[in-house]
Amino acid sequence: MSDILPPALLSLSTEDQLALFVQVVEQSPVSMIITDRDMNILYVNARYLTQTGYTRNEIVGQKTNILKSGLTPAKTYHDLRAALTAGRAWQGEFHNRKKNGTLYWESALITPLKTPTGETAHFLGLLEDLGTRHRTLQLFTYLSNHDQLTDLPNQRYFSEYLERILTTAKTTGARLAVILLDLDRFKLITETLGHKVGDGLLYTVAERLSTTLPENALTARRGGDEFLILLTAADQFQTVVKLAKQVIALFAAPFVYGEHSVHLTASLGISLFPDDGNTPQVLLQSADAALYDAKDAGRNNFKFYKIKQTSDSFERLSLENDFRQALAREELRVFYQPQVSLVTGDIVGMEALVRWQHPQHGLLAPAHFIPLAEETGLIVPLGEWILTTACRQTRAWQQAGYPPLRLAVNLSARQFLQPELVESILQTLKNTDLDPKFLELEITESILLKDLNMTTLILRWLKKKGIQIAIDDFGTGYSSLTYLKRFPIDTLKIDQTFVRDCLSNEDNAALVSAINSLAKALNLRVVAEGVETDGQLDFLMNLHSEEMQGFYFSKPVPPEEFEQMLRDKKRLNLPLSEA
Ligand code: C2E
Ligand code: MG
Ligand code: MG
Repeated sequence: MSDILPPALLSLSTEDQLALFVQVVEQSPVSMIITDRDMNILYVNARYLTQTGYTRNEIVGQKTNILKSGLTPAKTYHDLRAALTAGRAWQGEFHNRKKNGTLYWESALITPLKTPTGETAHFLGLLEDLGTRHRTLQLFTYLSNHDQLTDLPNQRYFSEYLERILTTAKTTGARLAVILLDLDRFKLITETLGHKVGDGLLYTVAERLSTTLPENALTARRGGDEFLILLTAADQFQTVVKLAKQVIALFAAPFVYGEHSVHLTASLGISLFPDDGNTPQVLLQSADAALYDAKDAGRNNFKFYKIKQTSDSFERLSLENDFRQALAREELRVFYQPQVSLVTGDIVGMEALVRWQHPQHGLLAPAHFIPLAEETGLIVPLGEWILTTACRQTRAWQQAGYPPLRLAVNLSARQFLQPELVESILQTLKNTDLDPKFLELEITESILLKDLNMTTLILRWLKKKGIQIAIDDFGTGYSSLTYLKRFPIDTLKIDQTFVRDCLSNEDNAALVSAINSLAKALNLRVVAEGVETDGQLDFLMNLHSEEMQGFYFSKPVPPEEFEQMLRDKKRLNLPLSEA
């Protein structure tokens, strides 16, 4: 040891020298761990014990995987093993679990300790607790711009980009084309070959599109089997036609995933700026309508929007007229979907979801008419009707002696900006005799951020009256976590897309778990939306998630059916391990 010691320390006895080094390691402000070659823990310093919550007795002699949460990507361990086997140091991040169950990000530098003869006998790990938020914030920014399966930009990014391009195009007079691509009968493929193969094929489609299309065409994934392409130099109609033909031709060769070689075709709907719209939303809607035509015309082809415009606006007009009368004709219905406690298994609340029983088209989901209602302003009377109906129903169930349930009602942006919003809600509660504490209003992140000061004021006012606030589809919007503290929020509803893929996609799993721990830290209730399978339920139970809502337990149902569930005391069978 004498060759590495400074002269000042050489005067110390060997025993004192050793004692000094032990002190350095033991009292180091950095967490340290020493293992043998098989990752058996031989030593951890004091800082490490405080960081993980274990006592020395509990941890020494264990394997390092005692801290594993199952959320660190497999690739991390793979890279770590590769580096250490080759005798190299490795640096990276683990998503670990402390003794008390808390998840945290840990930055790690792990080096092989060499004996004088150059062999690796031990590993030394220097670790730092990055807390819960660190990677989560990064993850949010990444996730909010990218599609996780294909790594293409997502629809949000696409729309924002389109918006920016439109601003310049309006001054320069440039022409643009938006192409919406939908794979034909793809659902059949996932149903027969399974979701894994389906995902693999989507990945190869994305790869082929993004590597072969010209540079001035931005490709994004809209979701499911839908892709978006933005052509920025669409000055000639023929250029657009050429690109559309090129895209269709890309599907001539089969797509290969594992042992599967599958022939796919695509249908394309195309809208043009400025002809078919001058906002991202309208251009996408027009492309959607054109896509519908392409499918109608037998798939594997492309259609432009313009050609059908006249009949389309006619159709729209008639739906609009129908809708104006729908309220008066009592064609609207409120369905209820239970929200279930993952602790007790009981129904603890319900979300009111509107439906339109259309005389010709049958039962229509909100996606068919809420945007229309928003555009025409009819959302205001519609919203009032929904709130009144749902509050009255909730009160009736309370009076019938069922356990009191929380009622969640969605508010759209236009409703939220109504100056009379708060008064009208309070009046409704009064008229229906429902205690405000049972009402929870669901709003989206985008509403929150529209006008920060105004929103804060409105939310505080609602809160003061005892009404609860939930953030709907959390994780899909701007997800600025710092705002969460600013607003008086009670509940976060984790968006279905994250829950749906939490078993197959590590980023989504990490996100669900991060939202969960963050919510706990901020004292918010978490409701996981869109739970459909045993696996997803298990995953949430392991995170000690609080509540769920999804088809696994029940779809949204008419009030009579909901009441039947209450009468039957329907509850969720919790897995035995948790019961
Ligand atoms: P949301 O508020 O996020 O509602 C949840 C949606 O997810 C509902 O669709 C519900 O049927 C669906 N869902 C629930 N569990 C599952 C599941 O396990 N799997 C799958 N695949 N889906 C599930 P819905 O009823 O079509 O509503 C769509 C959206 O329309 C709502 O999203 C909400 O934003 C809006 N909406 C619904 N009712 C109203 C309303 O009364 N007023 C306003 N302003 N908007 C409403
Ligand atoms: Mg909702
Ligand atoms: Mg939602």
